[in-house]
Amino acid sequence: MPPETFRCLLSTQDDAGRVSAAIAERRIEELPPGEVLLRVAYSSLNYKDALAAAGHPGVNRTFPGVPGVDAAGVVVASGVYEYVPGDRVLATGFDMGCNRWGGLAEYVRVPAEWVVPLPRGLDLREAMALGTGGLTAAMCIDALQRHDVAPEGGDVVVTGASGGVGCMAVAILAKLGYRVTAVSGKPQAAEFLKRLGATEVVGRDAVDDASDRPLLSGRWAGGVDTVGGNILATLLRATRHGGCIAACGLAQSHELPLTVYPFILRAATLTGVDAAWCPLALRHLSWQRLAGPWKPDRLDEMAEVIALDDVLRRLADFPLGKVQGRIVVRIGGEEAT
Ligand code: NDP
Repeated sequence: MPPETFRCLLSTQDDAGRVSAAIAERRIEELPPGEVLLRVAYSSLNYKDALAAAGHPGVNRTFPGVPGVDAAGVVVASGVYEYVPGDRVLATGFDMGCNRWGGLAEYVRVPAEWVVPLPRGLDLREAMALGTGGLTAAMCIDALQRHDVAPEGGDVVVTGASGGVGCMAVAILAKLGYRVTAVSGKPQAAEFLKRLGATEVVGRDAVDDASDRPLLSGRWAGGVDTVGGNILATLLRATRHGGCIAACGLAQSHELPLTVYPFILRAATLTGVDAAWCPLALRHLSWQRLAGPWKPDRLDEMAEVIALDDVLRRLADFPLGKVQGRIVVRIGGEEAT
């Protein structure tokens, strides 16, 4: 039986429209409707959680709200036969932690189709070390493969490489045999990225071309871009004939200053990735991959573990671009199971 109340990160809006977040206690009955109630063992921090906690209108317009796009834990109540109390599961994305109460909480209730059984090969903490960051990286790499970007086809590039999505993309691509150029604004992250398997680490300047040349010499067979803006435009201008860049983020900018030349003279592909609304078949396949052949070898090293009470302080690092690796939030821990 769940308790009557639970702890969570709660974002609230005052009469003047100002949004603030704090640790709070709420009643279980306030959780939104859904078939599956989870006791959360671990959650994680993603860029989107920082936006939700700050009340970014593109992410969250519902107050009070509980941020947290990721949760892994144990089923305590279920209205569907697929899940029974005691099952270890995870849930990421959809509207969780946005307009619907999310995973930075001791309990979360979700629709059954949002739930993924914890795949063999991962424990709950590892599932959240991967979290939305890992799922996003896996979806980007799946997109590259579907566009025939193979390890023997040439170098691939990952931007925002020291961040949550970026480091996962570097580690998985390297494990799959690609030669990976990691782009990072943090010189101190170079050693970390090399350990994950990056062939080379370059600064942002190397892929932030200020000239007005519509095409640059063709360098990349493929890429995973987490930052957008002129860096994404530079990657596309420097994509080899038939290459593909998977874009998932906007850490630099939501804009894309580009001509059509990479598309019409180099047959380049720009493919978009949205992990929140990842179709169920790809979602389940991606988690099987992440638990098996795509599981980063140094997953433990890629994620630090913090407590729920430390979440607010660490969320502030995201808009500053200061995050290195992934951040797991221990909520109930293994005792929650
Ligand atoms: P992180 O904050 O962990 O990583 C972002 C990284 O981007 C930073 O660590 C930094 O890496 C780099 N960066 C930050 N600011 C700038 C800048 N001004 N110019 C260039 N690079 C910069 O965030 P996440 O990895 O969680 O998310 C990355 C992006 O992907 C975000 O925009 C997020 O919203 C988006 N995202 C999208 C998803 C989707 O489904 N489409 C899912 C998950 C995330 P470094 O210092 O190494 O350069």
